[in-house]
Amino acid sequence: MIVMKFGGTSMGSAEALLNVKRAVTDAVAHDPVIVVVSAMSGVTNQLIDLAQAALNGDEIAPTIEQIKSRHHQVIDQVIDKNPEEVRNYITAMTDALKDLVMILAANPTLPDNEIQTMKNAVVSYGEAMSSIIASVLLRGTLHNAMKFIRTHAGGVDWITTKKLVGEEFPETLSGIHVTQGFIASDAADSAIVTNLGRGGSDFTAALIAAATGAGRLEIWTDVDGFYDSDPRKNPDARLFDQMTFDQAQALCDAGAKVIYPPTLMPVREAGIPVWVKNTFNLSARGTLIQ
Ligand code: ADP
Ligand code: ASP
Ligand code: MG
Repeated sequence: MIVMKFGGTSMGSAEALLNVKRAVTDAVAHDPVIVVVSAMSGVTNQLIDLAQAALNGDEIAPTIEQIKSRHHQVIDQVIDKNPEEVRNYITAMTDALKDLVMILAANPTLPDNEIQTMKNAVVSYGEAMSSIIASVLLRGTLHNAMKFIRTHAGGVDWITTKKLVGEEFPETLSGIHVTQGFIASDAADSAIVTNLGRGGSDFTAALIAAATGAGRLEIWTDVDGFYDSDPRKNPDARLFDQMTFDQAQALCDAGAKVIYPPTLMPVREAGIPVWVKNTFNLSARGTLIQ
């Protein structure tokens, strides 16, 4: 079993999604694959702004329309069998999103914890929608991460999560499986939507890898691997072929956004190697962290 996580830019365009398909098709020729996806790039920010706009009494319809048409556009470009069916699914979801946002708009004075849960529910639509497109594109089985990624008191409830992930993805698993990064639910009440924090899809993938004893975790992103500094800011940044967990953790803690800092601990403890790879450059070797 391997776990492959695709970030926002990897999910964010037709070109990227076709490369996702190539990478997953290659991988599943050798191992069963669990694919963990982020929302399309920019969508989480839009959803956060949308919830705030509702609370402020500002307009919400144009943003929802924009999110819907962005997903529809990508579906038209990458899904060749019955794209209307997938479009209708997204339409139903954006309708439900609108209902939810309108409830928020009508109740801005609810207690803080209730507002927070509703905001989390709004934000969860990003991964919910991208994972539908990914599962259809990859012909994979879709799994709801809220069932098995459980949080408690602001952190992950690892005991509960490990047990539930093990039940959801047994050793006998074969083929392609798709689930959402980032989104989670409360350990005590799965109806309460939570999440793992911004950038948290990496962490979801690491939790699944550790709980299933995966052979490796692959973080697919938009650069050739882990560099000694941000390659978008520093043209002289040097790419690591290999690095230790200590080296990677130190750079993550210092702000290297390529991996969300809590990600490495569970895979490191489980002895699972991590590859950082580029969805936009499939032939690049990537960085091995072990
Ligand atoms: P994703 O959406 O795939 O999770 P992120 O934007 O979270 O992608 O992380 C990838 C980005 O991290 C790269 O585009 C790069 O600009 C930035 N980055 C910052 N520091 C580093 C580093 N040391 N090595 C590689 N990328 C880095
Ligand atoms: N979509 C979430 C975010 O933008 C999680 C992630 O991309 O890892 O923060
Ligand atoms: Mg990221």
